[in-house]
Amino acid sequence: GESTDTVHGDPPRRHVLLFPLPYQGHINPMFRLAGVLHSRGFAVTVFHTHFNAPDPSRHPEYRFVPVADGMSSSATVPVAIEDVVAQILALTAACEAPFRDRLAAVLDEYSKDAVACLIADAHLLPIFTVATSLAVPTLALRTGSAACCACFLAYPMLFEKGYLPVKGMSSLILSRDMPVKEVPPYRVRDLIILGDDEDERGGQARELVARAVASVKVSSGLILNTFDALERPELEGLRRDLAMPVLDVGPIHKFAPAGDSSLLRQDRSCLEWLDTWPPASVLYVSFGSVACITRREMEETAWGIAGSGVPFIWVVRPGMVRGSTPNQQELPEGFEAATRGRGVLVTWAPQEEVLRHRGVGGFWTHSGWNSTMESVCEGVPMLCRPNFGDQMGNARYVEHVWKVGFEVDGELDRGNVEAAVRRLMTDKDGAEMRARAGELKKAAAECTGKGGSSSVAIDKLSWFGSHARR
Ligand code: UDP
Repeated sequence: GESTDTVHGDPPRRHVLLFPLPYQGHINPMFRLAGVLHSRGFAVTVFHTHFNAPDPSRHPEYRFVPVADGMSSSATVPVAIEDVVAQILALTAACEAPFRDRLAAVLDEYSKDAVACLIADAHLLPIFTVATSLAVPTLALRTGSAACCACFLAYPMLFEKGYLPVKGMSSLILSRDMPVKEVPPYRVRDLIILGDDEDERGGQARELVARAVASVKVSSGLILNTFDALERPELEGLRRDLAMPVLDVGPIHKFAPAGDSSLLRQDRSCLEWLDTWPPASVLYVSFGSVACITRREMEETAWGIAGSGVPFIWVVRPGMVRGSTPNQQELPEGFEAATRGRGVLVTWAPQEEVLRHRGVGGFWTHSGWNSTMESVCEGVPMLCRPNFGDQMGNARYVEHVWKVGFEVDGELDRGNVEAAVRRLMTDKDGAEMRARAGELKKAAAECTGKGGSSSVAIDKLSWFGSHARR
């Protein structure tokens, strides 16, 4: 039967089906994509896991279809990244059969030809396999940079050449700073290395990368949250190597109506507090939704920030400090008293709005791709402290290619934290990075403006949605 919501007299809407990977940094861009497609006249159906499930009441305009994921209802994001990788692999494997049933039911329900395509996160290979077997065209969303995607494509070669540890070659120790000349400007330390291929963790990381590439390759196109002025050579390389449409729709949040897909409640009070500070004076500190730090790092960061004298907003997620117990205080004793009046602590911030605020002059970030994009397109320079995954590569581009920030490497102590914060916020060096970030902000605005490259990519996406045929 025809269940498409038809406004009287209008043709029935075509459906796009979406399946995000259930982590904040993946949910946000997928929901922004949903917002864009919905505003272009598509009906949106969101398949989702029970784990980190979206709140349907916040999106009454979409249909939600839960898919069993084999996880216990109390599951949380694990603190060790190796375990996140294992969690993703387990979750996607468990979803495959239930998704097949759910998708088949949805296809029965919607009229033939009403379903345009499925857009799924590239980490969900089994979802692509199922869709393809049921003749649903797919588009892959990769929530990282174009450069990261190109690097993923190069992984088999990098293993072959010994840049990455492989079985029996673990004795080959490369210098961390050695350039990977096949994939400039990456160095060995910028690659995703979780362990030796011989051990389980190294093998799982390799598997994750290989699956992300496979999902892209079985799809009819690739969607990336980046823009031409930021990554033109990388995008051109991908178009050449993949021989499929590569849609650079970023910064995607600039196209979508504001919609909050946060898993944690955003504390908006910090926006008013920001109003009271001069332009570009406040440091915003956030390590994203997954990264954890040690207690020592927490202490050194806190005292370094305090010592810098710079006003700040700091996102301290519950459980962010490794090994802390629920009731244990996250920040060192005396820190709040020492920074009273010039610092605000929140458990979760309305980040896009914070970065857009004129009071913010710098971002201490873990270099997640969403954070990097959000910072770049608001003209905010960055202090990068990457942790895992694609974050090292993102920080490399920030420092070396776009020159809108710098990485703080090695052991943190309050002295080097203080110096780094000053460099970003009050030194000439930081001011130059801010000026370059301002140029990128303009370039992003052009790409998302009328006739800009990202706007054209959004048009292509809508066109694909209207013309794809089962
Ligand atoms: N974010 C937020 N409030 C915060 C911290 C982060 O809304 O206090 C959002 C941020 O705007 C971004 C996402 O969470 O869209 C984090 O994604 P990112 O890729 O930067 O990092 P991840 O969490 O995946 O490591």
